[in-house]
Parts: sequence; structure tokens; C-alpha cells
Amino acid sequence: MLSGGAKLSAAFLAQEIDIYGREVILELRENKTIKEEKPLAGSVEKMQDATVREAADLSEFNEKIKDCLKCALGHTRKKFVFGNGNPNATLMFIGEAPGQDEDEQGLPFVGAAGQLLTKIISIAGFARDEVYIANILKCRPPGNRVPLPEEIESCMPYLSQQIELINPRYIFCLGRTAAQSLLGLNDSLGNLRKKTYQFLQAQMFVTYHPAALLRNPQWRWDCYDDLRKFRAVFDAEVGGKPPMQELEAKKRA
Ligand code: URA
Repeated sequence: MLSGGAKLSAAFLAQEIDIYGREVILELRENKTIKEEKPLAGSVEKMQDATVREAADLSEFNEKIKDCLKCALGHTRKKFVFGNGNPNATLMFIGEAPGQDEDEQGLPFVGAAGQLLTKIISIAGFARDEVYIANILKCRPPGNRVPLPEEIESCMPYLSQQIELINPRYIFCLGRTAAQSLLGLNDSLGNLRKKTYQFLQAQMFVTYHPAALLRNPQWRWDCYDDLRKFRAVFDAEVGGKPPMQELEAKKRA
């Protein structure tokens, strides 16, 4: 019978084949060290602004902000994508901005990248409905272009208050836009991934955006390493999840 960790590994491999086909090349990845950074108080303060009103919980907050017209995206969106998941989540994932599917359904990460995110979450040992998922922007940028600095600035107070209401113990930033915007750093994703950060009450991890992983499947091993780094911290501090297991080096022709 397979152990919990071996089952996770087997599930990971099955998902890899499911997503990328049988031609995948499996490599053995080395552990990398993570360093901890001091809280980035400056960037958190920058997010507070007078447009955010008091709300007792997430649904009340959503009601208060869902008709937002603070930036031009409010005029082009189909639906406001507040975020969804467990309002008391220990773990929160933060992406960039809604795409077409999300704009139509009013929910985050429901398209192809969202399916991969669901798999990433389950590989980490969590169910999608036990975590909370949100984006830097609540409205879709036309043509899925990268969010503009002024859009990020006007939307960030909403995310900041959302994080405070959820009060997650851990946050995963998905991709460069999320990491740079939340941390107030201009570093490359490769550098940002190397560290963890204290953000409000949460420890923050950085990994690839699922859409980038779909375009660059070879990066999935680094993403897997990021999940393992997170799990090492989670297991030491919280525990109760089946272990993630090392993948063996295998080559498929
Ligand atoms: N990409 C994101 O960053 N967020 C979504 O919700 C969907 C795709």
C-alpha cells in the first residue's frame, strides 16, 4: 500500500501526464535554502487608503466594493472578481488579475490556469475549498494585458483589507505581478522565489503563475520545490497534512 507521501507523488505524476502528456522529462531537483526577510512595512502602509470602508466580514466587504469604478477597468469588466474560498483559510493564493473566464463567471482562477492551480493546491496537500484565492486586481484588464501601476494602486487597498479579514497564516504569491505588487520590490521572480517574507500577519511565499507554468512546463519543478519549502514550514508549525515526497529522477522517451 502506498504511504501518504507516495500517493501524493503518484498523484503529481498522474497530473503531470494529464497536463503535459507522456513526453515529460522528470528531473531530480535539489533543495534550495530560503532566507527570511524583515516585514516590508512600507509597502503595507502604501496599501491603506480612505476608499476602504469598514466591513465585518468578507461578504459584507464584497457588497461594499463590488460596483467599484475607481479605475477604468470598472467600465470594461463584465463581472467584479472579489475572490473566493474559505473565509478562515490558513493558506491564501494571490494571482494577477481575472482573465476572460473569470470575468464571465465572477470567480478567480476558473480557466485553464485555474485548473492547474487546483492541481498545484492539491499537490501541496490542500483542497481548493480549504484555501482562499484572490487577485491583485478585481477586474479584467482588456485583452489580459499586464495591470497598470495605477490600477494596482487603486485596487490594492481592497486586497489588503481582504487579507486582514481572512488573516491567513501563509500566503502564496503566484507570479511576478503579485509578488512585486505586494512586496513593493522590482526584483525578478527568480530572485523573489528564493526568500520568504513576513506580510501583515502572514508568512509569504512566491512561486510561478500557473499560466506561466502552462507556457513553460519545465518550470514546474521549481514550483514543486516552492511547495516543498512551504510544506516544510507548514509541517513544522501546523502539521496534519500527508507529506510531500521527493520525486525520483526518471526520463520518459
Ligand atoms: N490569472 C490570474 O492571475 N487570475 C485569475 O483569476 C485567472 C488567471
